[in-house]
Amino acid sequence: MSGFKDRFIAAQDRLARPERLGALAARGGALLCWCNRCAHHARIDGRQLTLTLGPEFPVPEVGARLRCSNCGAKDVATSADFASLAASASPAPGAPMALAATA
Ligand SMILES: [Zn+2]
Repeated sequence: MSGFKDRFIAAQDRLARPERLGALAARGGALLCWCNRCAHHARIDGRQLTLTLGPEFPVPEVGARLRCSNCGAKDVATSADFASLAASASPAPGAPMALAATA
């Protein structure tokens, strides 16, 4: 197999690999969670999630484990909260999303 193809496949793998909670927590980042039903949103400290879900848990899949604390829906979108990284502030106060007891 050619070296070019090996490098191309390795680059595609890096692009396809979503960020892990451990890497987010190491930068002091937070996760922005948004309920798709009622638009309730909250930030969760990445370190707190890492303790619960483990450092290798993919950031985009955290939403599947969350339940909205406002309406109870499990339709929650998540992304790394880059604004909190820039401000290096602690997560905003308020009702956080609750981890749902789903497998
Ligand atoms: Zn909701």
